[in-house]
Amino acid sequence: MTFLRDNAPVTVITGAGISTDSGIPDYRDNKGEWKRTPPVQHQDYMRSEAVRKRYWARSLFGWPVLYHAKPNSAHYAIAEFQQQGLIGCVITQNVDGLHQKAGATRVINLHGYANDMVCMSCREITPRLDMHERSLKLNPDFAALEATAAPDGDADLEADFEQFKVAGCRSCGGILKPDVVYFGDNVPRPRVEEAQKSLENSNALLAIGTSLMVFSGYRFARQAHQSNQPVALLTLGKTRADELATLKLNCSIKDVLA
Ligand SMILES: [Zn+2]
Repeated sequence: MTFLRDNAPVTVITGAGISTDSGIPDYRDNKGEWKRTPPVQHQDYMRSEAVRKRYWARSLFGWPVLYHAKPNSAHYAIAEFQQQGLIGCVITQNVDGLHQKAGATRVINLHGYANDMVCMSCREITPRLDMHERSLKLNPDFAALEATAAPDGDADLEADFEQFKVAGCRSCGGILKPDVVYFGDNVPRPRVEEAQKSLENSNALLAIGTSLMVFSGYRFARQAHQSNQPVALLTLGKTRADELATLKLNCSIKDVLA
């Protein structure tokens, strides 16, 4: 709290750790290592129909968890601090939209938004719910299976994915992809610049629930450090920015924000 008051407005960057209490599984452990097979890579998704079939079959079970997730007290606390002027912009690496659902107004979805689809040919943006419902209709045999949800709209499901039918863009038939920055792809430049500018216009950086292992998030800790802004970390376990931090709280996000 003192950190927020002394440095207001503070830019906040969040990661998967803030959404685990909303029932969205995290994909790295406390040491920042992968808990399971790394998520699908952009190039593989674009090149291989087999990869897309497997992705959409598993997504039938994984995505509804993401879609129905509700913000938790940490998301609400951040929205409230933002209204009070203690927090400026929220840069999130999450694609679940929970900061917005909790009422935060200045949010940059650094890695996109999982409930939107983008056509890779005509760039049309459509709701993922439409894609999901088409997938269910096209694949009744798969819809009848059972699987456990995993991070990023994925699920633990093994089946004969060759049989799965993937829906294409309604306008042009192109490949539809969640409007999310996949591993192996880059965050769009204007989005990075917007986030960098927000950080410049604030007095400090607070990272919550993120190990900052991915460079797209880590760069903000580096930027803050280079411009002599204090960096605080609120997360369980090791982060890539530990050496840059002026304050490290290795404890429960919910408790601290409360
Ligand atoms: Zn299209």
